[in-house]
Amino acid sequence: MNEKYDFIILGSGLGGLQSGYILSKHGFNVLMLEKNSKLGGTLQSFRRFGCNFSTGMHYLGSLEEGQMLNKIFRYFHLFDEISYKRMDDDGFEIINIAGKTYKYPMGWERFKKQFLEYFPGNEDVFERYYYLINRAIDAQALYSLNHPEGNSDLGLLMSGAYEVLKSLSPDIETRNYLAALNFDYVGEKEKTPFYVHALVTSYFIKSSYRVVGESDQLAKSLAGSIEKMGGKVINRQKAVKFQYHDDKIAAVETHTGDVYRADNFISNIHPANTMDLIEEGKIKRLYRKRMKKMENTISSFTVHLRLKDGFLKYLNHNYQYFKQNDVWYPSYYDEKKWPEHFFFHTPPITENDDSSSCAQIMTAMKYEEVKRWENSTKRDRDPEYHIWKEEKARKLIDLVEEHFPGLQDNIEDMNISTPLSFRDYIGNSDGSMYGRISDFNNVVSNYVSHKTKIPNLFLTGQNLNLHGALGVSLSALITSGEFVGLKKLLEEINNA
Ligand SMILES: Cc1cc2nc3c(=O)[nH]c(=O)nc-3n(C[C@H](O)[C@H](O)[C@H](O)COP(=O)(O)OP(=O)(O)OC[C@H]3O[C@@H](n4cnc5c(N)ncnc54)[C@H](O)[C@@H]3O)c2cc1C
Repeated sequence: MNEKYDFIILGSGLGGLQSGYILSKHGFNVLMLEKNSKLGGTLQSFRRFGCNFSTGMHYLGSLEEGQMLNKIFRYFHLFDEISYKRMDDDGFEIINIAGKTYKYPMGWERFKKQFLEYFPGNEDVFERYYYLINRAIDAQALYSLNHPEGNSDLGLLMSGAYEVLKSLSPDIETRNYLAALNFDYVGEKEKTPFYVHALVTSYFIKSSYRVVGESDQLAKSLAGSIEKMGGKVINRQKAVKFQYHDDKIAAVETHTGDVYRADNFISNIHPANTMDLIEEGKIKRLYRKRMKKMENTISSFTVHLRLKDGFLKYLNHNYQYFKQNDVWYPSYYDEKKWPEHFFFHTPPITENDDSSSCAQIMTAMKYEEVKRWENSTKRDRDPEYHIWKEEKARKLIDLVEEHFPGLQDNIEDMNISTPLSFRDYIGNSDGSMYGRISDFNNVVSNYVSHKTKIPNLFLTGQNLNLHGALGVSLSALITSGEFVGLKKLLEEINNA
């Protein structure tokens, strides 16, 4: 019988790794099990035709000295060997909405000035917007690294982002501008709570940075630290089922038949897929049903490009385009008209790149479009799938060409990811970009606690509250705070 651990963490996404780090740092004996050969979940990067592409961590917000992610990354020693490149202050994001181009400047002061240049005479709209943004942030004390005790603003939690913005201004262009970072939370008019819009938008406006090189440096650094602190990280070990002792989990079995024992288990796997590890009768049926039924955010389609040398300058900003005069793309998504949006960026290879021969184009895509091939694996997909995906990539490139003329002729190599690629890498059921959808209409049934109905099984990661480096880091604090004391942990982070 092998060793018994204090904690086994299933999945090495950012939330799993950060939980593993915190618990190891506090003296617990931790084992991490990851199904893939590469660690990191959507922090993963891959190398093709001389380019390093990050799959799901293209930029980070609030990383400036004194800001929230800066404090968190300092605690995890993620500045020691990793460099970050500050994006353009006067426009970290350039957004073309139905032919009109806007800049998103960094810092609320600059943002306000720019907003008033685009929409003169709208001081009151901005002030009211800024007030609501801060109220939403204050309502979630943890987002300012304060203890969440007695903190709630249910009214705001239950307000829809689209409706709140609509109440601020009758002008669609003003509202589009304020919601132009929609792709960062793939917001839906009928569902996305205002607080999700507020936290994500403010997080990037405060400051935006890119990791220099691949984003999986973050995963490697965290895994290395866990090992240095005595923990163990094992890849190619897919958890398939739990074993029990009375009402608790005693061990987890992997696809190779290995069995690992622990006192506590933390799942970084999507809650719906975590349920698949639990046999019938071991967890309340209603709870299982709720976890299994949760709706997810839309998936994505990405084209990774190698371009001819010298064609493209390194862009120190993201470029986005919305074909319609409406930035809420998931709400009017239409397969027949796809694509009506793209997000284009050039990943930095060094701190001082002036040209870029690698680029990525991303947009939203519904899983239904690939459903007919869902029973295949990467190795045995139908030739029809490959034809379909090439056609989709062409359509997307055609749209980008209108904004970057000459792109088509300068492509040397191309690699394509579809919702099936994401599904298979991350191990969720539909390749969802950001995990379960937050829905202001169903705040209670939509709530996912870090505690489950099994006393020694806990959850962490993007499905708890919010996705992205911000939301996931906080999920790791909540989950591991259960064992090391959240107050103490926040103190450590604030003093790191
Ligand atoms: C296209 C895209 C772009 C994005 N861009 C950004 C961005 O620019 N900035 C930002 O902050 N965020 C971005 N995100 C979101 C961000 O990447 C995620 O929210 C975050 O990384 C999710 O972390 P997580 O801890 O929830 O784990 P996940 O990344 O979901 O990882 C879960 C892990 O569990 C493993 N696993 C699954 N099943 C099993 C099993 N049975 N046994 C063992 N292991 C298992 C998986 O292999 C995976 O490693 C993006 C996401 C996508 C998809």
